[in-house]
Amino acid sequence: MSILVTGGAGYIGSHMVLSLLEHGHNVIVLDNLSNASSESLRRVEQMSGRQVILVKGDIRDRPLLDNLFSAHDISDVLHFAGLKAVGQSVEHPLRYFDNNVSGTLTLCQAMEAAGIRRLVFSSSATVYGEVATMPIHEALPTGSPTNPYGRSKLIVEEVLQDLAKADARWSIALLRYFNPVGAHESGLIGEDPNDIPNNLVPFVSQVAVGRRDVLYVFGDDYATPDGTGVRDYIHVSDLVEGHLCAMQAIARQSGVNIWNLGTGQGYSVFEIVNAFEAASGREVPYRIAPRREGDIAECWADPAKAERELGWTAKRRLDVMMQDTWRWQVNNPEGYSPA
Ligand code: NAD
Ligand code: UDP
Repeated sequence: MSILVTGGAGYIGSHMVLSLLEHGHNVIVLDNLSNASSESLRRVEQMSGRQVILVKGDIRDRPLLDNLFSAHDISDVLHFAGLKAVGQSVEHPLRYFDNNVSGTLTLCQAMEAAGIRRLVFSSSATVYGEVATMPIHEALPTGSPTNPYGRSKLIVEEVLQDLAKADARWSIALLRYFNPVGAHESGLIGEDPNDIPNNLVPFVSQVAVGRRDVLYVFGDDYATPDGTGVRDYIHVSDLVEGHLCAMQAIARQSGVNIWNLGTGQGYSVFEIVNAFEAASGREVPYRIAPRREGDIAECWADPAKAERELGWTAKRRLDVMMQDTWRWQVNNPEGYSPA
C-alpha cells in the first residue's frame, strides 16, 4: 500500500514525505510544481535513503488521477496541494477557487471512483474568522475568513463535511494549522518562498541573511501586550507528527474529525524578531508600517482536543523553531535554486 501526498514537493508536504518514508510508508507525490522544486524531494530521498515517486501533474486533471489510482494501491491521501498567498487570492479569486476548491472536488471524485475514502486535508485557523476571545477551540463555529484563500479552505471543509454525511465510509481529518514555521533540523529542506515572502518568519529570515534590507512590522497599535500582532507559531516537524497521529486516528474511525494543530502559545511580531536575532546572531532591522488589511490582532490555538484524542502535542519551542529556520536559510540563502 502507498500514501498519496498531493503538494508533496512543497514546504510542509516535503517534510511530511520525509517522515512517512522514515516510518516505512511507500509514498507517491502528485505536485504540479507551481510553487515548489523537485529538488526538495531529491533531498528527501537522499536523507531517507528511499525513493519517492513524483508524478508531475495537477489535482484538477481527472484522467491523470484515475490513472494514478489504478496504477497504485493507495490507502490514504494527504492533501496539501493548493495555492496559499492571501494577497494574491484577493487579486485572483477565480484562480484560487479553481485550484483549491475545484481541485479538491476533482480529487475527491477520483478517490470515490477508486474506492479510496481516507483523506487528511490541510485546513487553516483562518476558517475561524475573527474570534473575540483566545484560545480558539474546535467547538467554536467557523466564521467569515477575510479573503478568498480563507474562504476556499472553508468551502472545502464544508464540502468534505457534506461528503462524509452522505457516505459513512469516508474518514476525513480537517487539520486546522496555526502558523507553521521552521525547517527540518538537518537544514536540508525548508520553506522556499517565490518572490517576496508574505509570512513573517520567512521575511525575517531573509532580512537576517541579507536578502532584504528591512522588516516592515504591520502595525504596532493593536490591543496586544506590545501592540504587534500575536500568532501561534508551530514547528513544521511538530505539524508533521500531528498528521501521522491523525492518519492513525482516521484509520480507526469514520466521519469528519477536526483538530487544531497549534502550540497553544502566542508570540508577538517583536518577540519573533528578538527570538530570531538570538538564534541567528544577526540584527533584524525593522520599520513600523500600517496595519495589513484583513489582519487580526491575535490568534492562538487551544490544542487540547488533539492532545486528548490523538495523544499529540507540539514539542519544539520558539528558540528551536528559529534556530532551525536559520540553519535552513544560512545553508540555502537562495532556497533550492542555485545561487
Ligand atoms: P506550498 O506552496 O509550499 O505547497 C503546496 C504545494 O502544492 C506546492 O508544491 C505546489 O506546487 C503544489 N500545488 C499547488 N496547486 C497544485 C495543483 N493544482 N496540483 C498539484 N499540485 C499543486 O505550501 P505549504 O506551506 O506547504 O502548504 C501546504 C498546505 O497547507 C496548503 O494547502 C496550504 O494552504 C495549507 N496551509 C499552509 C499554511 C502555511 O502557513 N504554510 C497555513 C495553513 C494551511
Ligand atoms: N507581519 C509583519 N510583517 C510581515 C509579515 C507579517 O509584521 O512582513 C505580521 C502580521 O501582521 C501578523 C504576523 O506578522 O501579525 C504573522 O503574519 P503571517 O502573515 O506570518 O501569518 P498570518 O497573519 O497569516 O497568521
